[in-house]
Amino acid sequence: FSTVTVLGIPFINTTNDTFVHQLFEEINTDQNIFVVTANPEIVMYADEHPEYAEIIKQADYITPDGIGIIKGAQILGQPLQERITGYDTFLSLLDWADANHKSAFFVGAKPEVMNDLRTTLQEKYPNLVLAGTYDGYFETDEHIVAAIQLTQPDMVFAALGFPKQEEFIIKNRHLTNALWMGLGGSFDVLSG
Ligand code: UDP
Repeated sequence: FSTVTVLGIPFINTTNDTFVHQLFEEINTDQNIFVVTANPEIVMYADEHPEYAEIIKQADYITPDGIGIIKGAQILGQPLQERITGYDTFLSLLDWADANHKSAFFVGAKPEVMNDLRTTLQEKYPNLVLAGTYDGYFETDEHIVAAIQLTQPDMVFAALGFPKQEEFIIKNRHLTNALWMGLGGSFDVLSG
């Protein structure tokens, strides 16, 4: 995809549909993919924290998740085709995973939210394989690391909030070729 740079962050310039189809193909061919869906808060935080900016620049795709980014690109005279949110991408991936019996690993949110999420996923996506479900308030990630290594999921969804979720992904994405994606508060939204 071509990109448009706003505040030093290169955003992919494409549509939701084209983007998720690209992800489906890369998951099917066992690629290691790191996706950041960057909202204005993330962009501002990266602007003030160079070490975080370095982490998100290692993403394969940074999507414009927020109307502020779309507006910013317009002002720069390089309009972006579409806003691509983490939550919409998450739902598209879950639909596709359900239709194609793909596996996903979930880490993040409070324990009670993760319990509700497990139920929601089983009801709404019965053919999705739940490789692992861990809440996001762990002291060390060694059990989670071992579980990801063992289950080799197609997708790893990390909803730890930023910058934690991207730090977790950078540290662990070598464990398995999968789609690795930070999802902020998406588990709370889907379970609630
Ligand atoms: N979260 C977590 N572990 C933490 C801190 C936060 O799992 O140590 C979860 C929190 O429960 C919520 C999600 O991360 O489900 C997103 O949190 P928040 O809304 O603060 O982050 P943002 O959406 O702004 O990235």
